[in-house]
Amino acid sequence: MDKQQEFVLRTLEERDIRFVRLWFTDVLGFLKSVAVAPAELEQAFDEGIGFDGSAIEGFARVYESDMIAKPDPSTFQILPWRAEAPGTARMFCDILMPDGSPSFADPRFVLKRALNRASDLGFTFYTHPEIEFYLLKHKPVDGTRPTPADNSGYFDHTPQAIGMDFRRQAITMLESMGISVEFSHHEGAPGQQEIDLRYADALSTADNIMTFRLVMKQVALEQGLQATFMPKPFSEYPGSGMHSHLSLFEGDRNAFYESGAEYQLSKVGRSFIAGLLRHAAEISAVSNQWVNSYKRIWGGAARTAGAGGEAPSYICWGHNNRSALVRVPMYKPGKTGSARVEIRSLDSGANPYLSYAVLLAAGLKGIEEGYELPAGAEDDVWALTDGERRALGIEPLPQNLGEALDLMERSDLVAETLGEHVFDFFLRNKKQEWEEYRSEVTAFELRKSLPVL
Ligand code: GLU
Ligand code: MG
Ligand code: MG
Repeated sequence: MDKQQEFVLRTLEERDIRFVRLWFTDVLGFLKSVAVAPAELEQAFDEGIGFDGSAIEGFARVYESDMIAKPDPSTFQILPWRAEAPGTARMFCDILMPDGSPSFADPRFVLKRALNRASDLGFTFYTHPEIEFYLLKHKPVDGTRPTPADNSGYFDHTPQAIGMDFRRQAITMLESMGISVEFSHHEGAPGQQEIDLRYADALSTADNIMTFRLVMKQVALEQGLQATFMPKPFSEYPGSGMHSHLSLFEGDRNAFYESGAEYQLSKVGRSFIAGLLRHAAEISAVSNQWVNSYKRIWGGAARTAGAGGEAPSYICWGHNNRSALVRVPMYKPGKTGSARVEIRSLDSGANPYLSYAVLLAAGLKGIEEGYELPAGAEDDVWALTDGERRALGIEPLPQNLGEALDLMERSDLVAETLGEHVFDFFLRNKKQEWEEYRSEVTAFELRKSLPVL
């Protein structure tokens, strides 16, 4: 038994923890959990715990349903909302096949495989997510309009603000689970919050995002509220993005940084951005995986004022330009580690493992193939006309899930990165969602057409 495993077993005893939850994530990005008794844990570390994979979205076909969850002791944490004795703890798991080989269906494995490719090229991949979400007054009844929990706006600081109490409790809980928070504030719309996690290697941040979503929902429930990560729950308010700052390190040197270069951005950084741009459309179905995701990232001037809320809709990059898909934030002098790029398409309903895997693959492709970075967009690209954008070579992101899936289906990059199993399942599942949506007659149509036709 290794040191980390010993530490876990010792802590269980010392802290009187009687339940250990083994966590993993399905292909659509939902957290799954199986609880084991501490007595079983030694064996779980050795062999894993068997479960029926056919019951999990995207995991296995029925005739090969036996799968194994093997806990990763480095992710051991006590759940703070179950802290009183006897306590409960959790560990993330790797999913294995009965012969002990990694399961190709496990999103955590998909990301690990992508990170290994980066490491073969000498890179470690770091991410720093800014997670936006809404607090609602209560669980909305099916299909009805939700009610935001407060009436505050961007950076508002008002006495008795619901969001402030919420953020304080939520952040305390995250910190007690070893997840560092860098910033938090009220976002632009009523009920909308943002919490930014400190940068870490992409596997840790993906695990942290999964924990984050659960903690937010948990704290909201305790306060009689509901937290939602739906990309665009309101027509008239901005959506919830999960902008992520990305960087590559070679050892402890930031590979995006070059002193004296334009924006202090190295050749590696420039090619990485070029890769993100060139492959943005084909990876969109992964970074923006729901029908609803596309209500957030469309449109220029035609979009209702304010409702777009600085979500990107066109494929371009810019320096400190919030209308661009990729933004190179202002460089902070003296902080050589701070060279990074912000991808703004990713939304809060994405599977973080799969999303970071395809974003990394797109950037690495740019580096390997030496893509040239096109000119940056200095204007507000939302305000340009279609003709002006065309003249600048700026294309829109896919307009809906159907279009995004067509592009993904033809993408070698996405197929290679997700692997055949996840790629096929994802396309099948998402095409079904798109078809269900297309076949539904919506409230909009009834409102618009029924009275006049
Ligand atoms: N809510 C916006 C989005 O959907 C982002 C606002 C901001 O710039 O933080 O991406
Ligand atoms: Mg924000
Ligand atoms: Mg941002």
